[in-house]
Amino acid sequence: MDNILEFDRKHLWHPYTSISDPLPVIEVISADGVRLNLADGRELIDGMSSWWAVIHGYNHPVLIDAIKKQADQLCHVMFGGITHRPAVELGEFLVKITPEPLKRVFLCDSGSVAVEVAMKMAIQYFHARGESAKKKFLTVQSGYHGDTFHAMSVCDPDTGMHHIYSGVLPQYFFADKPEIPFNGIWDENDIKSFKSLIEVNHKEICGVILEPIVQGAGGMRFYHPEYLKSVRELCDHYDVLLIADEIATGFGRTGELFGCNYAKISPDIMCLGKALTGGYMTLAAVITTAQVGEVISNGEPHVFMHGPTFMANPLACKLALVSLQLLLQSDWQKSIKNIEKELAEGLSPCLQISKVKDVRVLGAIGVVELREPVNMAEIQPQFVEEGVWVRPFGKLVYLMPPYCIDVHDIRTLTKAMVKVVSRL
Ligand code: PMP
Repeated sequence: MDNILEFDRKHLWHPYTSISDPLPVIEVISADGVRLNLADGRELIDGMSSWWAVIHGYNHPVLIDAIKKQADQLCHVMFGGITHRPAVELGEFLVKITPEPLKRVFLCDSGSVAVEVAMKMAIQYFHARGESAKKKFLTVQSGYHGDTFHAMSVCDPDTGMHHIYSGVLPQYFFADKPEIPFNGIWDENDIKSFKSLIEVNHKEICGVILEPIVQGAGGMRFYHPEYLKSVRELCDHYDVLLIADEIATGFGRTGELFGCNYAKISPDIMCLGKALTGGYMTLAAVITTAQVGEVISNGEPHVFMHGPTFMANPLACKLALVSLQLLLQSDWQKSIKNIEKELAEGLSPCLQISKVKDVRVLGAIGVVELREPVNMAEIQPQFVEEGVWVRPFGKLVYLMPPYCIDVHDIRTLTKAMVKVVSRL
């Protein structure tokens, strides 16, 4: 095909776009390390890790080798009645690195599906115990958990556009969003709204779902670990399962391997995705405790009711295993600390810009929050012009580079941010 962009414009949906009046896209033909190579010969430093996923950078020889070797042996086989070494070894690894009580692993296709699976586990857990009245969920405002129906139902009602799907989307409980920032001084009032909702409605609630410490696509907010600790205590007190959606926060991005580690808590169910395969293939995992697994399996209908076609795809499992080994063999804490320091220094001049409301950094996440939403059509080409790939949304312009980025490239990213934001 001669004109890729023309066909793309006419026929392909992109995430959250109009098909009749789409914004321009750029064509990437290859990528290496932290660089995206464009069809027109330019290269961009990637500030996004392809939405939290590509933590080791692109075209990593170890990961590519793992894909090639696994492809020669077994690309896919159904998981019903069959198992394979990549799934088992990945499961063993996940059980080892996640908090202690998490032992039973469900491997599925994507983050949103993992959230659906986790929510179904919570419903089935209470159904199996003969407590079918407990099938609602409690969450917090400003969250994001994916685009499928049940995942959407626990996304922030405004940014998740619940009104479009009213009548179809289940109605759940939303506590006020946590206000005390990660490094702020803890105040019990922050958990008040959550506490009263769980207190009043716990007989109907099977699960609480939230993103630990960092609320991602719902606002890029970093909240206080005490909030999470209190959520854990309240879930225990009122017999409600805690689902930690670590799809974005998992695998070191926040400076801890999992966001939950900041609060030293363990959820009953944890969702993982995005960086699980180093971002090279889609794969997600839901891990729960032996107890939840037992209860689901011992009560009616004696099985967990989910089983996708591509469950535990061997290529993706092998890639995930090798990516996790690569991560844990590296000094990833040091890399994240360095990125954190550079982001904090490099983005601090944005605080002087009147259109900027806040600048915040945690781990390898640097956020510049504006007072007004950006005009994407205007701002996106400016970043490309500066040789960087930064994809803002709403009022948020942010960086989350691959962990392998060097100081020089981080400074190019932060300088581009300061320049483009100051021109707004
Ligand atoms: N949960 C969180 C916290 C996420 O950030 C995302 C994706 N942005 C999802 C769930 C959904 O994952 P996916 O896009 O792979 O379906």
